[in-house]
Amino acid sequence: MEYTNFFCFFQLFFVILQPILQIMRISDPKIEDPILHLIGEEADRLGLECYVVGGWVRDLILHRPSTDIDVVVVGSGITVAEAVAKRLGKKAHLSVFKTYGTAQVKRGELELEFVGARKESYQHDSRNPIVEGGTLEEDLSRRDFTINALAICLNENRYGERVDLFDGIGDIERCIIRTPLDPDITFSDDPLRMMRAIRFATQLGFNLDGETFDAIARNKERIAIITRERIADELNKIMLSRRPSEGWILLDKTGLLPLIFPELAALKGVDVKEGRGHKDVFYHTLKVVDNISDSSENLWLRWAALLHDIGKPKSKAWDPQAGWTFRNHNYLGAKMIPGIFKRMKLPLNEKMEYVKKMVDLHMRPINLIEDTVTDSAVRRLLFEAGDDIEDLMLLCDADITSRNEDKKARFHRNYQLVRQKMIELEERDRIRNFQPPVNGDEIMEMFHLEPCSLVGELKAAVKDAILDGVIPNEYEAAKQYIIELWQKKQK
Ligand code: ATP
Ligand code: MG
Repeated sequence: MEYTNFFCFFQLFFVILQPILQIMRISDPKIEDPILHLIGEEADRLGLECYVVGGWVRDLILHRPSTDIDVVVVGSGITVAEAVAKRLGKKAHLSVFKTYGTAQVKRGELELEFVGARKESYQHDSRNPIVEGGTLEEDLSRRDFTINALAICLNENRYGERVDLFDGIGDIERCIIRTPLDPDITFSDDPLRMMRAIRFATQLGFNLDGETFDAIARNKERIAIITRERIADELNKIMLSRRPSEGWILLDKTGLLPLIFPELAALKGVDVKEGRGHKDVFYHTLKVVDNISDSSENLWLRWAALLHDIGKPKSKAWDPQAGWTFRNHNYLGAKMIPGIFKRMKLPLNEKMEYVKKMVDLHMRPINLIEDTVTDSAVRRLLFEAGDDIEDLMLLCDADITSRNEDKKARFHRNYQLVRQKMIELEERDRIRNFQPPVNGDEIMEMFHLEPCSLVGELKAAVKDAILDGVIPNEYEAAKQYIIELWQKKQK
């Protein structure tokens, strides 16, 4: 009896304590930032209630770095922004967006966003709501997740007091992403929030709350009203997380994946014929992305890892002797990159070319691990990869996902040998940023030629001769080689 009573008393104690805890003040050195006190002072002078909200508060509790500070004013956010900009003087820059009722103050790295507390109502075909002024409670209720619906008061008499209407702090402690209101309404109103849920889960290493997860699965088709640029932004944030695979697995499990990235969804599954299967390319790919994320922060190398086997479904064939084959999947995959980047609104510049090149070349180093490999093959790879050769080798290392430790160690050793071979050849022949030592203009001048295909032919012949080791990578040797070739052609 004693024990049960004591337990009940203990529970009661917490029930009473909870509301007190809710209005506890945050004590963290970051909240004592003079800029936050200054905002509070200006709001006090104007007689307006004012809070720092959203991501900044979440990141404060999680001890994550954050740059932009969102401030909500019960009343006009613009008025407080104007007063703050004035106090900060010449170094501050104020931008006012009257139509949205928002204002931004920038000073160096610091970015302050001001907005009046608002309530929102949505129409079916748009994620842009009709907005009207509202209370702090209404403002916090319209936010996407409980962990993003926290506020800290900046007015002097309540400075540092936190407002947590939906137990966002509890969700941070439990590592949960959960919507403050009915998740079906939250996601249907603004389907971008489905992407944000998965992005935050991946970035923070959190789980989706069961109800929230189910609602995403139910509302997935609503993603159609979101622009591809916004989706790409979220995907890039997932890709820059510590374990990008977590995001892609959630996209798959909620059913969003085939809607936003059908080519990646097509990598899923295993075909079995005559008792022989192949590995599931989707899960292999995700392992490669996580591996590369351990060794590189380069977003585009991570995308290259995600896309390295994207050509496999198209090249898959059954061969009675060899079993499942994926011939030329690198080449087919590279050809798919521009189409994928264009549709997904990823950049169409040198970043795309880099990803395309990585996908195209990712099978080449593995072919260099045979004993019989010629110097010429290594030179050609160095020439084609250029400065990206290190990244290509990182990708190849990341591509080793065998569960057999001996096999894994053997592959890594082999790549080390390839690297060694490359270093030796590079030291000798300087192929990496190779430019043919005799250029087209010189060839035209030497033989009094107008621009024509013969010039290109002669240039290509010199390049091949150098890469094949027929002549050294030197000006005089190249010139001599061209003259001899020209003379032969004249006969
Ligand atoms: P990060 O800056 O790391 O992306 P964040 O939480 O600060 O994370 P922002 O996009 O800067 O995200 O938005 C600031 C705040 O505005 C969020 O914390 C959230 O409270 C709210 N918010 C942003 N986008 C939405 C949305 N689509 N629906 C509801 N609330 C949103
Ligand atoms: Mg932010």
